Amino acid sequence: MLFGTRKITVIPGDGIGPEVMSAALKVVDASGVAIEPEVRQAGARVFAKGIESGVPPDTIESIRKTKVVLKGPLETPIGHGNKSANVTLRTLFETFGNLRPVRELPGVTTPFTGRRLDIVIVRENVEDLYTGIEYMQTPAVAQALKIITRSGCERIVQLAFEFALAAGRKRVHCATKANILKLTEGMLQHTFEAMAPSYPSIEAKHILIDNCAHQLAMRPEQFDVIVTTNMNGDILSDLTSGLTGGLGFAPSANIGSDVAIFEAVHGSAPDIAGKNIANPTALILSGAMMLRHIGKGKAANDIEQAVLVTLESGVRSADMAGSAQPSSTTEFADAVIDNLGKVSSTGSARNFHAVRLPERATEVAATFVAARRVTGVDIFVESTLRPEDLGDELTQVAMPTRFSLHAITNRGNTVYPGGARSVSLADQYRCRFLTKDRNADVSDPEILSLVTRVGESVRWMHIEKLQLFDGDDGFSRTPK
Ligand code: NAP
Repeated sequence: MLFGTRKITVIPGDGIGPEVMSAALKVVDASGVAIEPEVRQAGARVFAKGIESGVPPDTIESIRKTKVVLKGPLETPIGHGNKSANVTLRTLFETFGNLRPVRELPGVTTPFTGRRLDIVIVRENVEDLYTGIEYMQTPAVAQALKIITRSGCERIVQLAFEFALAAGRKRVHCATKANILKLTEGMLQHTFEAMAPSYPSIEAKHILIDNCAHQLAMRPEQFDVIVTTNMNGDILSDLTSGLTGGLGFAPSANIGSDVAIFEAVHGSAPDIAGKNIANPTALILSGAMMLRHIGKGKAANDIEQAVLVTLESGVRSADMAGSAQPSSTTEFADAVIDNLGKVSSTGSARNFHAVRLPERATEVAATFVAARRVTGVDIFVESTLRPEDLGDELTQVAMPTRFSLHAITNRGNTVYPGGARSVSLADQYRCRFLTKDRNADVSDPEILSLVTRVGESVRWMHIEKLQLFDGDDGFSRTPK
């Protein structure tokens, strides 16, 4: 290895991956940064060898060593294991933040052309519904757990603000569904509002996710950086890619405290693989993000400027050529290389500082409270009884205990007491039992004895304790 050469792990990937990777590496090399790629495999060929995670040990070892990955798209072949190699990489190296910048590009005409869009979505990348914890509650009712942690919120909000500072950006929106999901999505909103005063130079605004989607379609130029939960970010970031020209142009970074993985947003596009016609822009721009991450900001700016100049000069890959003569993947990369050192007339380079990344937590993350107590229990049961019959039965069941039946809900609707409400019913009911003395703190044996009594008359499948932390409800109220 030459003195000063930076080793990176390169995963060419599947489908068009090797073609766009070769183009991106050529451009990175031409930018003058001394890179030594360690080429490793992941994805379809690895699954085919019977490695269920899609990522072999020598790839993992290389990433542990280099800490920086430039990655092509990875297929998740149907019928091989049940995990995606992307998810394996994301969870193994805990790349908790997904940064997806989009900007208006010259010659890439969209309904928003001329509005100078320049937006970065900062998506939480490892929590939320994507933990993949799902259960069939009854043969007819499925459930997924949405897990949001305080420490997860803190590090993604910190990443968003630190990125905004480093990139000289002015505004961060936090997009949540906190009006409905007060504890989970609300945790991101509260964390954002608590941390915002530490970044006084940045305007911080909360916005509901549905309004955010609407505003992105109507007036997207108002947005600068948007931080959001995993599923919301998944959808919003595809929306913003669409605003500026589509998948062929969208780069991304998966940031962890130790490891960062840079990749195009698009997949392996098997329909155009092996034809040398794929658009390499997204991976070239991902390569620029990688260079910036390793402290090579000038080379990163040079590549981004060269891409702009290339597009300004009318060079077009097949996906954007229209009736013009398209350039191949390799011709496009060569044009970018020819334009290194030139300055775009449509978008000046941003002055970046290094992003101060949240530190890796070594302890189990916990929030300590002075007082906590358990005031009741929700027992989820499977039943085809009408709500009033189930309610009457469970009222009798609870009679000799410290609990009384407070309410029964069906898919979140209160159906007992006051069964006048007309809702279509599923065979899963949530039965909320509260202590008769509302200030009580019930013990596990008392809860288990109630569950046993309930189980003697109806099938139950899970329970949730109703806890109060420092007097605040740690559960959502049943609707009236
Ligand atoms: P996709 O591979 O992104 O392709 C969808 C379509 O977008 C392609 O058929 C092609 O459209 C166009 N396209 C995408 N990238 C392009 C490029 N660089 N240049 C020109 N056109 C491009 O999405 P998919 O078909 O849903 O997924 C295919 C496979 O990729 C799946 O196995 C999926 O799991 C995987 N995937 C991997 C990642 C990742 O590794 N991060 C991300 C997404 C999907 P035309 O039909 O117009 O040619």
